Amino acid sequence: MSQAMLEMRDIIKEFSGVRALNGVDLCLNPGEVVSLCGENGSGKSTLMKVLSGIYPKGEYQGEIKLDGQTYEVSGIKDAERKGIAIIHQELALIKELTILENLFLGDEISQFGVLNHTQMYKKAQTMLERVGLTMSPDTPILELGVGQQQLVEIAKALGKNARILILDEPTSSLTESETEVLLNIVMQLKSEGVSCVYISHKLNEVLAISDGVCVIRDGDHIGTRSAADLTQDDIITMMVGRELTEL
Ligand code: ADP
Ligand code: MG
Repeated sequence: MSQAMLEMRDIIKEFSGVRALNGVDLCLNPGEVVSLCGENGSGKSTLMKVLSGIYPKGEYQGEIKLDGQTYEVSGIKDAERKGIAIIHQELALIKELTILENLFLGDEISQFGVLNHTQMYKKAQTMLERVGLTMSPDTPILELGVGQQQLVEIAKALGKNARILILDEPTSSLTESETEVLLNIVMQLKSEGVSCVYISHKLNEVLAISDGVCVIRDGDHIGTRSAADLTQDDIITMMVGRELTEL
């Protein structure tokens, strides 16, 4: 069997002896979108916190391989250096600052050396264009809608060369048109070879953009199937635990 770019095997995570993840597997290839589905509290965010370094090595059991190599990270920055970035439901931009300031926050030196404002402005414009945003990088975050802020976060992750983007319930507070814009960006990134783990309760979105659907129930890995073989009802059935009759 050929090896996937990312392989998470038998991931176990406990909180004070309580198992939030009980042996979950997830595989991902370049340009693939895999959705993670499960009811609230099933363990989706926890699995992605393991992948993104929020729970670093030593805080979970199981094996993760990236490009066939053991993937063990010491934290979020380390995961970002390896090309894995997470975007949380609660956006992390600093509202009082501009887009440009947010894009380079904390990374002015490590990534961009001695760039001056003009260079950063140009770089920011290119980063924004990649996610379809056309406003000035000097625009304050306060002036952006939630959907636009989400795109700025994605631009920031891509600026750090993310090749696996984790979107944890990105559309839960977006309007229908903002959602459409986001899904189009995910599809565009996919065509550029960027992979995505997509967490959403909105199963129409899941089926629209996913290659694979991985279902977790109470920390158990119920299965991963090709999205083309699934209906929304099939996913719900896997999520809540009734037997599938047709698969
Ligand atoms: P989901 O994202 O699928 O809604 P989570 O991964 O956030 O679920 O949570 C999975 C389980 O782990 C839940 O029972 C939740 O209460 C528990 N959990 C998550 N984070 C913590 C934490 N930091 N401390 C203790 N329990 C946690
Ligand atoms: Mg969650």
